Amino acid sequence: MSSPNTDDIDAVSNQKKLGKHLYTDLADLYKTPLYVYDGDQIQRNFKAFQKAVSKLNSKVYFAVKANSSVAILSLLKSVGAGADIVSGGELQRALVANIKANDIIFSGVGKTDEELLLAMKHSIGQINVESGAELERISELAFANNLKCSVALRINVDVDPGSHEKISTGQKSTKFGIGLNEGQAEDYYQKIISHPNLNPAGLAVHIGSQLTRLEPFEIAYKVLLNFSNYLRGKGFDVPCLDLGGGFGIDYKTNTNPDFSEYGKMVSSLFQNQGYKLGFEPGRSIVANSGSLITKVIYVKNGINKRFIIVDAGMNDLIRPTLYEAYHRIDNLQERGDHRELSDIVGPICETGDYLAKDRMMPPVEAGDYLAVRGVGAYGAVMMSNYNTRPEASEVICYEGEIHLIRPRRTVEQLIKMDVNPFE
Ligand SMILES: *Cc1c(COP(=O)(O)O)cnc(C)c1O
Repeated sequence: MSSPNTDDIDAVSNQKKLGKHLYTDLADLYKTPLYVYDGDQIQRNFKAFQKAVSKLNSKVYFAVKANSSVAILSLLKSVGAGADIVSGGELQRALVANIKANDIIFSGVGKTDEELLLAMKHSIGQINVESGAELERISELAFANNLKCSVALRINVDVDPGSHEKISTGQKSTKFGIGLNEGQAEDYYQKIISHPNLNPAGLAVHIGSQLTRLEPFEIAYKVLLNFSNYLRGKGFDVPCLDLGGGFGIDYKTNTNPDFSEYGKMVSSLFQNQGYKLGFEPGRSIVANSGSLITKVIYVKNGINKRFIIVDAGMNDLIRPTLYEAYHRIDNLQERGDHRELSDIVGPICETGDYLAKDRMMPPVEAGDYLAVRGVGAYGAVMMSNYNTRPEASEVICYEGEIHLIRPRRTVEQLIKMDVNPFE
């Protein structure tokens, strides 16, 4: 069963804390904006997922793009995670975190020659191919460099996951995967089988992110299973099915889905079918472990609502403006319950620079710290330096201890990257 990630309350000060540390103390010490993660929660989430699929022959690969911190990858590795990566950079991060090359799966529509060669030279577990052109390129590179490579086909099952359009990947209108209609997928699989440098790894599917119902998964998996059984019927070796990620969380309560329900559905479809199964959860492993602590700079009373201006902007957390994402926001100071309609906005010169719109917020004063919840996934990884703002620092609490896992860079360090040929 899943439980919401709630804060501990300090018995003396009555303030919110993580382990033995008050959030407000961490904000004073490390300055804001500050990402704070609960490492124990991350491991609990991962183990809950593992347990839900443990009756099957399975391996769980954490989707590194959700949070690529080497410290977090290392905590996940220690409880048995492999890595699902989408770039050469993420491959290097996974290796630095000591994840075995064989436990790495490479997804994505636009892998370059350099990235493919890096993956092949490290003999990673599997490359998920998304087009005929990519398969052609992999064949050439493997042959020319005398390298072996395990390849799976990512299938576009044409299922609408019922999520936000910018994070839906399973319909045929998207750029992802190989369609089943024109016999291409079978042709490509045949090519893999007959190529001397390629090993068939099987098939893969990933229909989108932040899915909150089981049904789209079930429909997609049935299509995949049908097709893989068809290939097997033709005598092809199809050892693994990679079932992707996409499990949504409840951002209002910061609660994970009940993985055991998902596990039951998967078991009923795949038990005794003789496939090794792969899973690639990202968001549901890390999202509810993270808070972004930000300081209120000004409170501005507008005509019909209040603007709470904070020191974290869309460069620190772009999800609200990019996906209309909802994140719960708590005032870490107790100032009573009277709620007022408010926009919580950053300092950046863009109308899209907000963390929440039309939110009923309790009393807030300049200098207060707010905690933006559920930001452990697709938060820090999307930070930028827009407006020449250094990224937020990141810290993690694990077994009671706080560790700095990424210090904020200085403005001098940012500017140093510029080259001025006109001086
Ligand atoms: C993004 C992605 C995932 C992870 O999705 P979540 O919604 O974070 O679980 C898994 N597999 C692939 C191929 C992806 O692109």
